[in-house]
Amino acid sequence: MRRSFAPAPKSSLIAAKGVPQSMRIALLSGVLLAGCASARVAPEAVPAQANPVSTADGSTTSPARATRLPDAAQQGAMVLGTTSPAAIVEYAGRRLKVTPYGTFVFGIGRDASGDAVVRIRQPDASNGIEHHIRITPRDWPIEQVRGVPPATVNPPKAIAERIEREQAAVAEARTRDGDETGFAQVFIRPVQGRISGRFGRARSYNGQPGAPHSGMDIAAATGTPVKAPASGTVIFANPDLYLTGGTLVIDHGHGISSTFLHLSRIDVKVGDTVRQGDVVAAVGASGRATGPHLHWGMNWFDVRIDPQLVLERNL
Ligand SMILES: [Zn+2]
Repeated sequence: MRRSFAPAPKSSLIAAKGVPQSMRIALLSGVLLAGCASARVAPEAVPAQANPVSTADGSTTSPARATRLPDAAQQGAMVLGTTSPAAIVEYAGRRLKVTPYGTFVFGIGRDASGDAVVRIRQPDASNGIEHHIRITPRDWPIEQVRGVPPATVNPPKAIAERIEREQAAVAEARTRDGDETGFAQVFIRPVQGRISGRFGRARSYNGQPGAPHSGMDIAAATGTPVKAPASGTVIFANPDLYLTGGTLVIDHGHGISSTFLHLSRIDVKVGDTVRQGDVVAAVGASGRATGPHLHWGMNWFDVRIDPQLVLERNL
């Protein structure tokens, strides 16, 4: 669903959710620009750009290119859209990068509900368009995980602090908004094997409720090569985190990242560029794991998304 904007105060951009439809109407002209450090002028003083947009390959694109977005997306989905490369795109209070081909991306959280609202203003338009994407709810069954070492379920204070520190370092790495465009590739599975754990299921460890499962588990023998599911840049690599063992994060660009846990070996280092299909690590059972498997998590910044949906998107 899409609708045009009419004038409204800046505050209307902040919280569309829970606001009556009639109040969601807002003028994008200038308002989004006002959020940029370089735009200190009054919104009405910002001229609309009417010129065609030059892309990286030297061709010229019409700034009025239509936006494409799905009408609905499941909880945990990675959503790709296209528009003109110079458009201003905003979602969840964040200005999204747009590739020279007009592609942008964002993620929908496991517990998101209602509509995902994307605001887009074309460079030659004074008004923006608000796109509403219906979020489809999913079932999240509870999964029992038994046989986990008790010290990893109820760690002593010093260990709890170490876990917190390590998780903060991984979270910090995922704040990067890189220019890589691997996120737009057709993703491949990092290893072949039976899926032994699914994204989003509420988990109980040794009978104690835990956080929902943050990724997909694929059963495979220790030492099985792990391939990059899409191209990107290594933004985190540590062979020995307390809970997650050998831990590797690859940034596929625009906030989309893959995280691999419980690795027995890591073959790349922070800053390395990897291509889709490159071997980057090996399966293991390090950290809190009941046996050798690959845990593959995906994120859009701090929002966890479902790798299975990313793979299915390409079917
Ligand atoms: Zn897992």
